[in-house]
Amino acid sequence: MSPHPRDDLRVTLVRSGHRVTGPRRAVWEAVSSTGDHLTAEEIADRVGQVDPDVNLSSIYRSLALFAELGMVRESSLHGGAAHWEVAHPDEQFHMRCRSCGRVEHHAGDLVEQVRTHLADEHRFLADQVDLLVTGLCQECSSKVPLERSDIGKGRRGIGG
Ligand SMILES: [Zn+2]
Ligand SMILES: [Zn+2]
Repeated sequence: MSPHPRDDLRVTLVRSGHRVTGPRRAVWEAVSSTGDHLTAEEIADRVGQVDPDVNLSSIYRSLALFAELGMVRESSLHGGAAHWEVAHPDEQFHMRCRSCGRVEHHAGDLVEQVRTHLADEHRFLADQVDLLVTGLCQECSSKVPLERSDIGKGRRGIGG
């Protein structure tokens, strides 16, 4: 989100009493230089192209530290595998296309509405809302003719 992720890393690490190390810098570059959601292995691939000496366990340690500092977010998007990205608020939820695999962010107040509903109607105070919606993205859904039977699928049981 920031135009200067490199400065963000240094400032955040130093403020929290941590040093800027080569592996930490390489991991942060790999995560922050893409809008994608990457597995630790995918991050390791990217880091390895810059610095082949960084091993997988120091990549995991860096990710754990960044998560603790609120810099990265971990979500399970594809069959439970952990995916990492630059932190974003719960209010942005994930939409994953089951055809092309693309993951998009939806920003809006829908998650806030869920929180409010849970608090008001169920007296449930939500800490974190991790919302993953799967389906067909705009591009993929435009390739298949949308049939009326598809549109109403989810409701049929209720409406009768
Ligand atoms: Zn995301
Ligand atoms: Zn798609």
